[in-house]
Amino acid sequence: MSSGPPWHPPDGMRSPRYGGVRTFMRLPQVTQLDGVDFAVAGVPFDTGATYRVGARFGPEAIRSASVLLRPYHPEQAVALFPTLSGIDYGDLPTVPGYLPRSHQDIAAAAETFFRAGVTPVFLGGDHSVSLPLLRAAASVRDEPLSLLHFDSHGDIWSGYYGGLDTHGTPFRRALEESLIDPRQSIQIGLRGSVYDEHDVQLSHDLGFQVVTARELHRRGVDDVLQQVQELLRGRDCYLSFDIDFVDPAFAPGTGTPETGGFSGAVCHELLRGLRGLDFVAFDMVEVLPSHDPAGITALLAANLVYEFIALLALQKRDGSRG
Ligand code: MN
Ligand code: MN
Repeated sequence: MSSGPPWHPPDGMRSPRYGGVRTFMRLPQVTQLDGVDFAVAGVPFDTGATYRVGARFGPEAIRSASVLLRPYHPEQAVALFPTLSGIDYGDLPTVPGYLPRSHQDIAAAAETFFRAGVTPVFLGGDHSVSLPLLRAAASVRDEPLSLLHFDSHGDIWSGYYGGLDTHGTPFRRALEESLIDPRQSIQIGLRGSVYDEHDVQLSHDLGFQVVTARELHRRGVDDVLQQVQELLRGRDCYLSFDIDFVDPAFAPGTGTPETGGFSGAVCHELLRGLRGLDFVAFDMVEVLPSHDPAGITALLAANLVYEFIALLALQKRDGSRG
């Protein structure tokens, strides 16, 4: 036995990657949190979706695609598992069809990670799950969090069909509850048709910094990353990634696709450029396998989760928190 971190994937040179029970990156499925740096947890819930449902199968698809991932990240020059101890915790409890009850159960289960000092990596589920996850993250802190939000939608409506909680509303609730500080938060990738001119202004009016998809296309990745780094450096950040940020050509498997988005390569560059920031949690949401016939959406999602885990490895190795 080596004396490294206790939990890591098996050696891919000893057991083939298609074998074994599907967990994220073939991590051991463990539910005790001693000696754990990060825990992957599924949130298989899609009762908050307003159009297509099926994101409840997102965690399973992302886990399946993730078995191809290898433990060394060449662009970031970091080996994940000599640095980090990671597990797949399994899925958080949900009750399909019952949103308030599910949100309560999700928040209660997610709190366990924050109380244990473990960084959770959540696999959704529709975007409504970010609200209970933020409630859990904020419950162990005195200050509101910074939100870094990649999405083609702002998800800040006050309601939808008279309902307060859908996948179009989580960040409105989060700022009403002071879980996040909009002035120290940024939404990136907004685009597509909206209902009226008020919708365009809404994020600004609520105090968020906004980089629309068009702005990102025109300004370029490095310029936007510089803005993100200046805004968020030194802050406790919650990173939420809605897969519909990606262009449907690269991520067709999602519930409310918008054209004019970004390639997988751009997503990788954006996440790599977040090096040095302090993340308390990550969620990857809105992956919808039934519209993902070749599995490319889940594959990209798995690889972007991997980018986040590499950021955690850098954070731990280089001690950016401080
Ligand atoms: Mn969203
Ligand atoms: Mn969206």
